[in-house]
Amino acid sequence: MTARLGTVGAGAGAAAATYVVDHALPDADLTVFEKSRGVCGRAAARRRNGLVYEYGANYLTDDDDRVNNLVTEEFDDGLVEVNGPIWTFDAAGTVAEGRDSDKRRWTYADGITRLAKHLFGATGATVERTTRIVDVHHDGGWRLTDANESTHGPFDALLLNPPAPQTAALLDETGIEAVDQLGNAAAAVDYRTVWTAVLGYDFEIDVPYYALVNADKEHAVGWIGREECKPGHVPDGETVLVVQASPDWSTERYDDPPEQNIAVLAQHAAEIVGDERLTDPDWTDHQGWRYALPEAGVRADAVRAAAQKDVYVTGDWVAGEARLHAAVRNGLGTGDAVAAALRGR
Ligand SMILES: Cc1cc2nc3c(=O)[nH]c(=O)nc-3n(C[C@H](O)[C@H](O)[C@H](O)COP(=O)(O)OP(=O)(O)OC[C@H]3O[C@@H](n4cnc5c(N)ncnc54)[C@H](O)[C@@H]3O)c2cc1C
Repeated sequence: MTARLGTVGAGAGAAAATYVVDHALPDADLTVFEKSRGVCGRAAARRRNGLVYEYGANYLTDDDDRVNNLVTEEFDDGLVEVNGPIWTFDAAGTVAEGRDSDKRRWTYADGITRLAKHLFGATGATVERTTRIVDVHHDGGWRLTDANESTHGPFDALLLNPPAPQTAALLDETGIEAVDQLGNAAAAVDYRTVWTAVLGYDFEIDVPYYALVNADKEHAVGWIGREECKPGHVPDGETVLVVQASPDWSTERYDDPPEQNIAVLAQHAAEIVGDERLTDPDWTDHQGWRYALPEAGVRADAVRAAAQKDVYVTGDWVAGEARLHAAVRNGLGTGDAVAAALRGR
């Protein structure tokens, strides 16, 4: 009989796992339910008037051989390297060279979401977009209920990819104790919040770095990145700054009027970069990420126990590292485990 896998969330972790399962079990029936219109979750990109910018994850670091080989050998169509070093600034906004490594930073010319598009596109999986799952339960197999009260399944196994608090909300009274316990373990994973302003300008700035990171974690701004350092993203003669506020600032101002937050962050960016013109962007965008970055990983024993009941989780909070490459690496490994469990069913 064909093995059936139901996956909640189409983030990078789920995309990597789906790719592995599809290749290991070409006949398996793979269905992915994603609440938003696009794939790749917090590794997010938007398009606007001929330019592309990333307002979640800034890039994929070449920190893991399996992930690096995957993108450079199998999914290198449109792959580009981010140009320029990362410098630092401190609480006083003083910029200094350094804290950079020789790691390579990858993205795609048409946006980092291409990573998940490549991975899902190489499979026979069905991705049901704008389908938010609200309930998980076991009744003669695993079943998923969406926000329109349609039920999907039964599935032989489930793979859950939403951030830990959103996964926890699904794993409540599922009918299987070990899975409910995984929900409790997921609920215990804390997250940092990040409020992101995107600032567009019809002029270029002349600075020697790709990005600035707040090294002492004492500034209201945590990160300023320049999208024009990513080949294919920004036409010549323009500047796009991605300004990520610190977790404390972001939590405090999360529900404040966006235009107010943008004005404050543009002022900070102008002071840190040292260019008064940056206080007055030509266009702006913004995004609040309540569950931006997990502080730690979920308990591994809870993950293992739920896997015995055919419920798997994947993502950065399972990897225990709030990084895109960690989510992908975890997805590849979880995909191996799911394929091994489903083989022969
Ligand atoms: C502001 C910011 C900056 C970052 N910068 C970097 C960086 O520079 N470098 C780096 O390596 N990492 C960075 N990260 C972290 C990186 O984005 C994540 O580690 C990675 O994208 C996590 O992938 P994931 O597969 O775990 O899950 P996610 O990307 O969270 O994917 C989960 C998916 O599940 C979907 N979903 C949630 N609930 C439901 C539901 N009920 N039903 C259906 N679908 C659902 C979501 O819509 C989403 O698509 C950053 C993150 C943020 C927010």
